[in-house]
Amino acid sequence: MPGPMATSRVPRRADVVVVGGGCMGTSIAFHLVRRGVDVVLVERGHVASGATGHSGALVRQHYEARIGIRLARESLGFFRRFEKETGYSCDFRTTGFLSGTRHRDLAAFEALLSLLRSEGVKAEQLTPSEAKGIEPQLEVSDYAAVVHDPEAGYADPIATSVGFAQSAAGSGAVLLENRDVSSVVIRSGRIASVRIRGRSTITTDRVVLAAGNWTPELARALRVPLRVRFVRGDIVILRRPVGFGSPPKIHFDFYGNTYVRPEGEKDVLVGYMDTDPRKTIRRHLLSDDTVPSSTVRDLRTRLMRRFPVMARAQPRGGWAGVYDVTPDSYPILDRVGPEGLYLAAGFSGHGFKLSPEVGRLMAEYVATGRKPEILVPLRFARFRENRPIKPEAPFPAKRGPRLP
Ligand SMILES: Cc1cc2nc3c(=O)[nH]c(=O)nc-3n(C[C@H](O)[C@H](O)[C@H](O)COP(=O)(O)OP(=O)(O)OC[C@H]3O[C@@H](n4cnc5c(N)ncnc54)[C@H](O)[C@@H]3O)c2cc1C
Repeated sequence: MPGPMATSRVPRRADVVVVGGGCMGTSIAFHLVRRGVDVVLVERGHVASGATGHSGALVRQHYEARIGIRLARESLGFFRRFEKETGYSCDFRTTGFLSGTRHRDLAAFEALLSLLRSEGVKAEQLTPSEAKGIEPQLEVSDYAAVVHDPEAGYADPIATSVGFAQSAAGSGAVLLENRDVSSVVIRSGRIASVRIRGRSTITTDRVVLAAGNWTPELARALRVPLRVRFVRGDIVILRRPVGFGSPPKIHFDFYGNTYVRPEGEKDVLVGYMDTDPRKTIRRHLLSDDTVPSSTVRDLRTRLMRRFPVMARAQPRGGWAGVYDVTPDSYPILDRVGPEGLYLAAGFSGHGFKLSPEVGRLMAEYVATGRKPEILVPLRFARFRENRPIKPEAPFPAKRGPRLP
């Protein structure tokens, strides 16, 4: 892991100030610098200390709408070339992705596969016994078919953000860690400057709010109300028992409401897939980010139903984070409110895997002032206009918006 990278001196001016050093803010800064823009990135804590550092960091293409598939597909390509692009490793590991369907959901499953294939995703349809051939511990008796995407994987979310940030800094961006943007100053309807707690000010006419769960609060102060709610997400790490064999592929169990992926060579990472409305929380900060033992037991039991050998899995800890969820589970990527204000907010549990391409598109938007066509449906006003992103081929057995 590279060493500390914060610059302590606050510059007097910048073309663009990016607020937030998660995967989004760092990716946007990286892509802005590539375009020759003079950027200051301000992070309240350290890079990736927000949702990004708590992420499951799955990188999959399994989405129900073309826009999600396209953003994910472009981003996956970037993750695979990350080192070439940035000079740093994000530790991307290709695992492959599996998810099964029961007989009653087969038509929806096949519609989803044809949508994915039409976008170039290698979504192979396997019989249950073929799936068992590539994932021997998987319980497939209730499945009628299984989808396999051999390209999916996961990365290290901290290394990814640090890689973006370091690479941006190496090309001239100023990174300020442990600095807090206390307010954005508006004059005559335009952004004039950004105040950093501790009385320094950066003069700028463009600000990107990429402050994750804190963006709604910063936007509200600028009279931009965001429709985002906060949902707790729990993750548990389990040691694979002897006899499991090689690390599993990513598995989405729509019926057991769990996802699992390998974590390093010996462990697996497991979490819930649904946004459970009962887990909506009022604030974006958790008073306790440890995982209760009842959740550890529940996730292990759910996982055991799909991987019976996991009955002997040893819990190795876990953590909780907070999702920022919009009404349609797609982000808001737009220029809103005072002239010069850009938002990258409400990633609804999908932000990590989308960060390379969203960063590239937002940088194009901010640098040129012209909105890339693909961002139009993700505008701020879509909820007011009653034009949310709609699933084109809904997930089989869908109960609620899917995370992560
Ligand atoms: C439990 C969990 C599992 C997840 N799993 C996945 C997954 O498998 N795949 C996937 O694609 N996505 C996943 N996600 C979602 C993904 O992690 C997020 O969408 C993504 O990390 C959001 O990145 P961000 O940069 O927008 O926000 P953050 O990472 O939260 O970054 C925002 C940063 O802004 C800083 N900040 C806030 N206010 C200020 C201020 N005033 N001044 C300066 N800095 C400020 C914060 O300190 C923070 O570091 C998961 C999320 C959680 C919680």
